[in-house]
Amino acid sequence: MKDKHYLMIPGPTPVPPAVVAAMCAPMIGHRSEDFQALHKNIVAKLQKLFQTRNEIFILTCSGTGGMESAVANTVSPGDKVLTLAGGKFGERWTELARQYGAEVIEEKITWGTCVDPQVVEERLAQHPDIKVVFATQNETSTGVVNDIESIGRIVAKTPALLVVDGVSGVGGIEIKVDEWHIDILTTGSQKSLMLPPGLAIQSVSPKAWKVIEENKSPRYYFDLLKARKQYAKWNTAYTPAVSLFIGLNASLDLLFEEGLDNVYARHKLLRDATRAAVRAMGLQLMTEDSCASPVVTSVYAPEGIGADDIRKVLRQEFGITFAGGQAQLKNKIFRIAHMGYAGKMDVMVAISGLEMALHRLGYPVELGAGVRAAQQVFLGVQQ
Ligand SMILES: *Cc1c(COP(=O)(O)O)cnc(C)c1O
Repeated sequence: MKDKHYLMIPGPTPVPPAVVAAMCAPMIGHRSEDFQALHKNIVAKLQKLFQTRNEIFILTCSGTGGMESAVANTVSPGDKVLTLAGGKFGERWTELARQYGAEVIEEKITWGTCVDPQVVEERLAQHPDIKVVFATQNETSTGVVNDIESIGRIVAKTPALLVVDGVSGVGGIEIKVDEWHIDILTTGSQKSLMLPPGLAIQSVSPKAWKVIEENKSPRYYFDLLKARKQYAKWNTAYTPAVSLFIGLNASLDLLFEEGLDNVYARHKLLRDATRAAVRAMGLQLMTEDSCASPVVTSVYAPEGIGADDIRKVLRQEFGITFAGGQAQLKNKIFRIAHMGYAGKMDVMVAISGLEMALHRLGYPVELGAGVRAAQQVFLGVQQ
């Protein structure tokens, strides 16, 4: 028998059977009343998830397409923007904004640490002409969650827009678009939202619309003004990924059946168990507790062992896939996702597999130490 596979990377993530089944529904026309009803229904659910009254656009593209839409619609050539870059995805904002002719002030944040909101306040005071601040809710490359609430409070006092990449976090980590003053929140389907890749989802505030209406960047597929016209009729400008819309409706139902508060608490519990286990194995975590992501945990490989060797043993011998490090973290860290369709026993599989892989590679791990630590967190017993 081919080994059963455990996909534990931060996207694409496993898709729940109910969502897979929903997506087998017969095709419907995207200009039909059935589609309009579906679209309207999904947007109402997304507004609850995003905690917003803003319009929400579902774009057929990957997460980066949604990021490009946010940039193309808000950044005119020559505009000054601030990017908060503490990892691969924060840097993507810098690259995108430069590509659209912005004068980019890139605030480099040490990888593995979160943004100090004070820095945002200082940069905005130094450069009152900053038009857009680009932030990342959950920096997937390092496993850090940023304090969007505090950043939002600061940006809201200025004319600048706050654009947030929530691609990996939304659906696993709480976000309050209206209360936290997020002008554009953009996310993707294949991470915490438990869907296959192919959708980007973004909300747009009234403050953002003023900028979008004046924006001079050339754009066609990602023109939100065109999208808004169709949205008024619950249509999309171009053919949407209909099956993914149907899947999204089903995955949102799963989130609301569980209850959003329970969903967020579950992810924090999975994080805490994973971190306790990693520590019990004597390994080093990449992030401090204070800004550790609830959906993905980054771990340094022990001295003398390549992170990619650990991943190889896990995959070949135990059927478990962890993600590796990106850029300068390549072969230095591995990342364990506990994102979306993930529960306690997924963490047990990940940790017990990791112990066995480390043993195979000659690292002196006490077999069961990590498993026990995770069990203790789940059972709420003293360690
Ligand atoms: C995955 C991810 C993206 C990119 O999404 P793609 O679907 O690969 O284009 C952007 N930002 C963050 C934080 C991500 O985790």
